[in-house]
Amino acid sequence: MLLVSEPSLGDREKAALLEVVDSNWITMGDRVRAFERAFATEQGLPDAVAVGSCTAGLHLALAGLGIGPGDEVLVPSLSFVATAACTYYVGASPVFVDIDSIDQPLMSIEDAERRRTDRTKAVIVMHYGGYLVDRDAWRAFAAARRLLLIEDAAHATGATGAGLIGDAAAFSFYGNKNMTTAEGGMVTARDPGVLDQIRRMRGHGMTSGTRERLDAQTPTYDVTMLGWNYRLDELRAAIGLVQLQNLAQWNEQRAQLASAYRNALFERCHEVQVPFGNARVASAHHIMPILLSADVNRDAVVASLRDGGVQTTVHYPPIHTLSFYRNKGSTISLPKTEDFACRELTLPLHPKMQEHDVYRVVDVLAATLSRGRWAR
Ligand SMILES: *Cc1c(COP(=O)(O)O)cnc(C)c1O
Repeated sequence: MLLVSEPSLGDREKAALLEVVDSNWITMGDRVRAFERAFATEQGLPDAVAVGSCTAGLHLALAGLGIGPGDEVLVPSLSFVATAACTYYVGASPVFVDIDSIDQPLMSIEDAERRRTDRTKAVIVMHYGGYLVDRDAWRAFAAARRLLLIEDAAHATGATGAGLIGDAAAFSFYGNKNMTTAEGGMVTARDPGVLDQIRRMRGHGMTSGTRERLDAQTPTYDVTMLGWNYRLDELRAAIGLVQLQNLAQWNEQRAQLASAYRNALFERCHEVQVPFGNARVASAHHIMPILLSADVNRDAVVASLRDGGVQTTVHYPPIHTLSFYRNKGSTISLPKTEDFACRELTLPLHPKMQEHDVYRVVDVLAATLSRGRWAR
């Protein structure tokens, strides 16, 4: 079965893990800090804070920027649930915003403006598929309305400019992302003071960590703010340091595979639309989304592809349609998001694939679609 995504792990990750075990210092040591620095350098950021997940990173970004009870945060509904859930963690609430269009499934500034109220405090943009949102447009929007701008950059690790658009950003190293530490993430913030606050919030709001107390020979500490345990450990940092060295090359392979998909789909599957057709923006090519015609039964296509040895998924069931969010009283409708989400199909895309895998997927898809349409 050709999977939608797969991590690339090998001997160097194994060796890095063994070294950590042999060192007998397994959490929040030199490797975590080295990983933060190396990641910041690779991503073009001044600095970064390593965390246990991107979700934890989003929580810390909101907390560090002072978003709190009563505040509203504009978020795309076409995203993973963490983009919205993090607003509740700080007592704020999400306000869901539609996408621009089927071809440009990124949060719409026009719709954001319609849904803004005098309680709106921040916007979380998400670089769907790894395609960066319009930096200048979102900055101007946020600045003119005195809103904080946060990037959910889970799809965009390695894309030039990701993390430099907003006041803060969070990246993910979950197993299906462009690079992985199994679980893990990274936060950044434009203001060094905010980033310092985030660093402390990661470890219970304490003034020093275990290692600093050892180094400074001070047995005690103070707690100056509410914090959490969102630390990363040395084992995962060691894997991250190795993965980081391959990131640029993997993303280049993703770009080439995505381009092979575009050409093959254009030639062989006329009824299939590929979003970001006119995109000249930077992308980390995290996933390969396509859109089926409205009259095609997606479940039947998914089953047929599975029979042909090709896994597919859907990015995403819109957050505002999920039970928890519906039960929160969200009765809004986001027509473009809903149309996109019920026609979208995500094809396999990861750096272990080769061009012939792309052609095989397109073969199976073309054969499936030519066999006829199914009533929805
Ligand atoms: C994966 C993902 C997250 C969550 O990342 P974790 O590291 O698993 O917490 C958040 N937002 C988006 C868009 C994602 O794809």
